[in-house]
Formats: sequence, structure tokens, C-alpha cells
Amino acid sequence: MRSSSSSKSSQNVVVLGATGSIGCSTLDVIRASKGAFTPFALTAHGRLDDLLKAAIEYQPQYIVASDEAAAAEFDWSDLPEKTTLLTGTKGLQEVAAHSEADIIVSAIVGRAGLEGTFAAIAAGKRVALANKETLVVAGHLATKMAEESGAEILPVDSEHSAIFQALMAGRETDVRKVILTASGGPFRKFTQKQLLEVTADEALDHPTWKMGPKITVDSATMMNKALELIEAKWLFDLTVDQIDVVVHPQSIVHSIVEFVDGSMVAQMSPPDMRMPIQLAMTYPERTECPAKQLDLSSAFSLEFEPPDYERFPALKLGKEVAERGGTCGAVLNAANEVAVQQFLEGKIRFVDIYRVCRHLLDEHPFESNPELTRLLELDAWAREESIKWITCCLRQAKDQACSNT
Ligand code: NAD
Ligand code: MG
Repeated sequence: MRSSSSSKSSQNVVVLGATGSIGCSTLDVIRASKGAFTPFALTAHGRLDDLLKAAIEYQPQYIVASDEAAAAEFDWSDLPEKTTLLTGTKGLQEVAAHSEADIIVSAIVGRAGLEGTFAAIAAGKRVALANKETLVVAGHLATKMAEESGAEILPVDSEHSAIFQALMAGRETDVRKVILTASGGPFRKFTQKQLLEVTADEALDHPTWKMGPKITVDSATMMNKALELIEAKWLFDLTVDQIDVVVHPQSIVHSIVEFVDGSMVAQMSPPDMRMPIQLAMTYPERTECPAKQLDLSSAFSLEFEPPDYERFPALKLGKEVAERGGTCGAVLNAANEVAVQQFLEGKIRFVDIYRVCRHLLDEHPFESNPELTRLLELDAWAREESIKWITCCLRQAKDQACSNT
């Protein structure tokens, strides 16, 4: 790994997805860093008023409005003089690979995060990776490219940050397995029958984390853990058999590494993303952090239970896709993104999210070693097919209901 934490007094940070949940937490870390980090470029897709506000507060060199049509209509007259406005995917790639950028925080949600993340990896940057979808879609290409360019991919996802930290307790060859913790989400205790009825508002009400809508629904289906399993495989070069999942409702133990002698090393902290974000930026140093701290002076308990693969079948998809690799990750991710959006719009039921993903994985033309262009083609194909399948199922359900009346 190349160390980009140079002796420079302040590191230039690019925040891809600066208006989101991770993006705002990153800006908090930067604000608290007493000048150790400088916001160099901030990007957003929608909510351009938030991007403009951030530009006024942080005075970055660049902002990127990735939705070109929205950017063209927006009134930028209050943009600080020193800030240059870029637009589109090209703008994301330009700031991610900029020669003056030191750290790229990859915090765009979904497949839309790929281009910026790949540009940063190709340019040999330190990438603080929240956008797990990059590794789900194209983990084999991202890790290979990082090896070639000398880029460092440091995990922001709390579980992977925990594993990254726990791995420091022993030799890589002595690792037996890693155990990803999962909160279990808002429906942890729901029966299969109850899951048929749950609404988007209920799914968005996560018990321990405050996050963007897509990952919050992913946590409710446990697809998030499926995606994290694939992410862990690529980040730490593990076999699928070496990755377990345990439900831990308090979200305090963020994950565990088990060594060959049976010793388990865990990382604990309150559920607050500022800690793993900051560590990915300061590593190998640790500095004071604005994140909440664990208070051991008052009593609390930690529970662990095995996950239920029947009520949360998305978890099985994670194992299957991590095992098969190739084009599976791109297809699973695209189908899931579409299904989550359709669920949030009230068009399909919660349990249908899994069904869409299962169907697309079964139908897709598998390839074992695809290039990026092929993966992006399949991403587009899977999105279209998912919508077609959902529309067809809805029509059939309507016809059925009509014939029953
Ligand atoms: P969010 O929805 O709160 O924010 C998403 C950001 O991406 C926004 O700035 C938005 O403008 C931008 N964006 C959305 N669509 C875009 C597009 N088409 N092109 C370019 N930019 C676009 O999401 P979040 O919860 O902050 O999650 C961001 C990423 O971090 C996800 O990959 C998620 O899985 C990961 N992550 C989040 C958390 C968390 O606590 N929120 C924890 C671990 C990992
Ligand atoms: Mg996580």
C-alpha cells in the first residue's frame, strides 16, 4: 500500500456525494479536524441548494453537480468566486483524479458511485470507500486496478473498518474467519406473514443507524449484509467460507475477526459513522474524533443471535453471488436498486425485493470474467428487465384480482 498521508500540513479531500448521510458526516470530520483536512471538491446529484450551501460554508476549489440538466437550471449566482462548477460524470471523474486531491471519500449511493471511484483508484489515490456497490459490481477489477496504480482502498463501512482494525491483532495467515455483525433492522422480530404487510415508512425507521433511504431499506431486507459480504471478500481477500454473519441488535460491536487459535478480536464504538470515516482518512494515525464515545460507566448489554435465512433470504444471495462472482454482482446490485426504488414508491411489496433479485440472477447470461464495459451493459439490461418483470407481475396480479371479483 502506498501511503498518501504525506507530510503536507493539510490533506485535500474530495467528497463524492457530499450532501448525503456519509457526505455530511465527512464534512463534520473535516470541520473538527482543525485544518488537517481541506475540502477540495464536493459533489451532489439532487438537492443542489444543499450543495451550494456547503460550497458557501467550505469554499472548495470545485463543486460538481452530476445531474447536468438540474445543474443547467439551477441559480449559481451565490457560488463563491474561488469555486469552479463542474457537471456530469466527467466532472466527478475530473475531481476524483485531480493531481491536487489527496483523499477521495467515495460516498455516492449505488452504481452511480462507480465512475468517480474508479477514476480515483486509477489515479492511485487514497480512497475512503463507503460506496460498497463499486466492489459488489466490479470487485475483481477495482482491486486489480488498485494493485497496479498503488491506490489505497480503506473501508468506511463500519463493519469493514472494524475488520480492518481487528486484523491488526494478528497475521493474515492466522485468520480463521471474519464475522460481520448486522443490526437485524426494524423487522428483526417480524414473522414471514408480517413481512408481507410492511410499509416503506416502517422500513425507513432503522433502530440504530440514521442513513440514506437506499441503504436503510437494504438493512431492513438484510441485502445490506449480503452486499457487505461481497465487499468483505474483495477488501480482505477472503473465501466465502471465511465470512459469517451474526445479528447484534445494539450495533456496538461492529465486526469480529476470529484467529486460528479461537481468539476473537472485535471493535466496539457507538453507531456513528464519523469514526470509521475519520480513520479511513487519518490512517495510520488516530486523532480525536467528533463521533459519540462509548460510555462504560452505565450498564448496557450486548446480544448476539444467528441470522434467519428464511425470513431474510437476501442474505443467501450474498453468499451465492460472492461465490459465483463474474457478472452476478452487477446484476444483483442493479435489480436490488430498482426493486428498492419500486418498494419506496409503493409499487411492490417488501418481500418482492428479494423476488426481483432472485429472478434476475436466474435469468442473466452469466460470464465469469467480465470487463467494466460489459458489467455496465449488464447493469442497464438488469434495470430494464427488472422493470419489465415487475410490470408483468403487477399486471398478472391485477388480472387475478379482477377475475376473483
Ligand atoms: P445518501 O442517499 O444519504 O446520499 C447519497 C449521495 O449520493 C448524495 O450526495 C447524492 O446527491 C449522491 N447521488 C445520488 N445519486 C447520484 C447519482 N446518480 N450520481 C451522482 N451522485 C448521486 O446515501 P448514504 O446513506 O450517505 O450512502 C452513501 C454510500 O455509503 C452508499 O453506497 C452506502 O451503501 C454507503 N454507506 C452508508 C452508510 C451510512 O451510514 N449512511 C454506512 C455504510 C455505508
Ligand atoms: Mg455497514
